[in-house]
Amino acid sequence: MSNRIGVHALVWVGGTDPAAVREAVARSAAAGYDLLELSLHDAVNLDTAAARAELEAAGLGVACSRGLAFDADISSADPAVVERGAQLLADSLVTTRELGGTHLTGALYSALGKYGAPLTSAGRANVVRVLREVAAEAAGHGMTLGLEICNRYETNVINTAHDALVLADDIGADNVTIHLDTYHMNIEEDDLVRPVYEVGARLGYVHIGENHRGYLGSGHLDFGAFFHALADIGYGGPITFESFSSAVVSPGLSSDLAVWRNLWSDGAHLAEHARAFIAGQLAASAPR
Ligand code: MN
Repeated sequence: MSNRIGVHALVWVGGTDPAAVREAVARSAAAGYDLLELSLHDAVNLDTAAARAELEAAGLGVACSRGLAFDADISSADPAVVERGAQLLADSLVTTRELGGTHLTGALYSALGKYGAPLTSAGRANVVRVLREVAAEAAGHGMTLGLEICNRYETNVINTAHDALVLADDIGADNVTIHLDTYHMNIEEDDLVRPVYEVGARLGYVHIGENHRGYLGSGHLDFGAFFHALADIGYGGPITFESFSSAVVSPGLSSDLAVWRNLWSDGAHLAEHARAFIAGQLAASAPR
């Protein structure tokens, strides 16, 4: 397999202002990664032209991710809230394209946070309608959307691979792919293998995170089984390491993700370890 191995920028820096992007690019490249994932929660401070130049000079690919917000949420039944969410997605698609990226993924369908009630049918219909429009716009630029499946404490829209496949079917666009994250899978799925087979060729993006989002291998997730399943379905897309610690804080995102603990303090050591861990898993599970 020739999966690109990526790293989430929050391993290095809390935001995406020019100095932060410069640091994230330099350190990702130095740690041997192929791709940098930038969360667009701080897009107001992002200089897309400068970031693109830095990424290209370092030979790094880019993917963008985000969640929406409770006051800008396409899963709402309130048209004004939905409209603000749709605008956030439209803006994020432009930013991703301007960075030279083709992949926008994450909780594109709701806020990242605990909902106090189940998704309504009106809210779900809004998710389908808006994402169909965003997917059409993305397709015109050769871009792909990812539906990242998140756990119950971070969304009420899709918590399992099954939910995500039904939603993707309802949206009905070839460029809407499924994004699996082992951290969320650990909370919601029966195991780390069956969802991979269930999603199969529709898998477009992968986040690798431990059950506590710290050092890979320091928790209890069965990564051997997960990587063998990826090999079995012939997954060739990006595999991005995601880890959070109170050592690197994003004022908004860290709180949305409930990052209260210090799971590591040396991002460089963490990232080099994760890069080697993922490469090792890929080598060990490669078809012989
Ligand atoms: Mn994730």
